[in-house]
Amino acid sequence: MAVMCTVNNCHYWAERNRCRASSILIVSDSIADDALDTYDAMQAENAAPTPVDTCMATACKTFVQGDESITDDHITPRIY
Ligand code: SF4
Repeated sequence: MAVMCTVNNCHYWAERNRCRASSILIVSDSIADDALDTYDAMQAENAAPTPVDTCMATACKTFVQGDESITDDHITPRIY
């Protein structure tokens, strides 16, 4: 499944608004605010549910700013 994203200052963003992360984790805003950077897609299968009422209350936990690379979240970039 292709993930399309317009957050072009993310480390995983690629041309034509493609996300090139091997997997991503979407959570509620409150979890995104509180959880460590290392809490990411690799923990998703055992993650607690985080229901929200609108799309505005969701966030991509995999976002990494700019050229930074966080390796301990084990997310790898895909090549398009
Ligand atoms: S990791 Fe999240 S914020 Fe970054 S490009 Fe992919 S979907 Fe967008």
